[in-house]
Amino acid sequence: MDKSGRIDLHTHSFLSDGVLLPSEMLRRAEAMGYAALAITDHADISNLEEIAAQLVRLYREGLAGFGVAFIPGVELTHVPPEQIAPLARRAKRLGIRLVVVHGETPVEPVAPGTNRAAEQCRDVDILAHPGFITEEEAALAVANDVTLELSARGGHNMTNGHLVRIAQPAGARLVVNTDMHSPGDMMDQARAWKVALGAGLTEAEAEAVLGANAQAVAARALRRLRTV
Ligand SMILES: [Zn+2]
Ligand SMILES: [Zn+2]
Repeated sequence: MDKSGRIDLHTHSFLSDGVLLPSEMLRRAEAMGYAALAITDHADISNLEEIAAQLVRLYREGLAGFGVAFIPGVELTHVPPEQIAPLARRAKRLGIRLVVVHGETPVEPVAPGTNRAAEQCRDVDILAHPGFITEEEAALAVANDVTLELSARGGHNMTNGHLVRIAQPAGARLVVNTDMHSPGDMMDQARAWKVALGAGLTEAEAEAVLGANAQAVAARALRRLRTV
């Protein structure tokens, strides 16, 4: 099992529908030995500016004393496909460093074309819970360097096995995220390991997904932060 610190790139605070203050999430992540935590609250055109301002303020002014790398993010959620690229671009201009898109999960009526719009956009970093993703969509994700998510969240995780079957032959980058909304959703690396193996990854593949893949996405976001 990968021994490096856990990296979670998809979580929610009470700035959207999570239950914890961002600072409590960071403290709990630090206590669990996380290396990095992205907070990616739900955003659409109505609240993107507010979420970005709050999380970027925390990054710039509030991080002293936390022993975990913090990445300010958003999850563009139920945004019409044609609005995804302009909103992702706007998020990055506002200082957001990790854009997640709420993909076509089997448990919600997400607009068809959402996966494709996210995978065509280089400002999107992660397509979350992409449901019954096609081979063609996975190829688009590879071409545009969009990472695909294995979700630990009940319901969204229904299609994890399908995602592994499509994504691995395509060479797509996978990560395991919690989509945390409350403290009990937090996972240490041992629990994330079970999610990865349960989705059908081999031990070597799980090692890469929980280690190098998550580190690569986090490092890219943090590198962007240092240049702000
Ligand atoms: Zn989502
Ligand atoms: Zn989410």
